[in-house]
Amino acid sequence: MPALIDLHSHSTISDGALSPDDLIKHAHEQGVRVLALTDHDDTRGLTTARNTADALGIKLINGVEISVTWRKRTLHIIGLNVNPEHEALKNGLASIRQGRYKRAEMMAKDLNRVGIAGSLEGAYRIAGIDIHHPDGLIGRVHFARFLVEKGYVKDTKSAFNKYLVEGKPGYVNHEWATLAEAISWITDSGGQAVIAHPGRYDIKRTTMLELLQTFKDLGGSAIEVVTGSHTPAQYNEYAKYAAMFSLKSSIGSDYHGKGLSFMEMARLPYFPLGCVPVWQDWLGITDADLYH
Ligand code: AMP
Ligand code: MN
Ligand code: MN
Ligand code: MN
Repeated sequence: MPALIDLHSHSTISDGALSPDDLIKHAHEQGVRVLALTDHDDTRGLTTARNTADALGIKLINGVEISVTWRKRTLHIIGLNVNPEHEALKNGLASIRQGRYKRAEMMAKDLNRVGIAGSLEGAYRIAGIDIHHPDGLIGRVHFARFLVEKGYVKDTKSAFNKYLVEGKPGYVNHEWATLAEAISWITDSGGQAVIAHPGRYDIKRTTMLELLQTFKDLGGSAIEVVTGSHTPAQYNEYAKYAAMFSLKSSIGSDYHGKGLSFMEMARLPYFPLGCVPVWQDWLGITDADLYH
């Protein structure tokens, strides 16, 4: 029986394929009852998403997925129930988006060096951003789509493998927000911080334990235990970590749109036994929201 709550998804405001409106409509068609829109480093989809969600009877959670650098690694921290008008959160996200413009220029320079011209203009065009007055989020997925469009690779997956991951010519190491900053922006705005898809970080057990302890000490709330990025064995592994650190558990598809997401919405199972849902103390979420 799939869970009908999905606390991780993306729209065109970041690197998803569907507009915030169409994302909500899609969630509704798939049977999702509670959805968090968690665009990378940007909350600007939430207002229009809320109008559509209200009209369709979907409970929308205000979310964001913040890019963080911790011990030279990139991590993603999800904020749930954030206040998008909170100054520190707003300014923090704006500064990350500024950093993304600089990273994009360096990526384009690198790609130029291997004979790929015009990627900066192409990626901005695909992202729908005015290159002279940038406002909005530019990311690696926009470069990936440019590389597909120009025939350098057959799909976005190959674009990442060949050009956009560490060690490849278009990859640029970048300094994101600190873990402490991301958690404080989220919690100070009234939200809960969740470590996204921990199984995707290439870190050994002792380092994972240190990360979880630090996350907990800084005021983090939950681990994304069930995600499209985890195997069923990893659901159990991270459920144990959650119990070990008295952290709650979250579920999210990380839906990015057809052909881009690792998983369709409303396909993930509920938690392994013993997990405490991150929504435990939220008002208005009932068992009827969770199952068919
Ligand atoms: P960025 O935050 O701009 O560095 O881009 C990160 C995003 O790229 C992730 O949220 C995914 O949407 C996408 N992504 C990362 N790695 C891969 C991969 N190996 N294949 C396809 N998409 C990826
Ligand atoms: Mn993404
Ligand atoms: Mn992520
Ligand atoms: Mn995501």
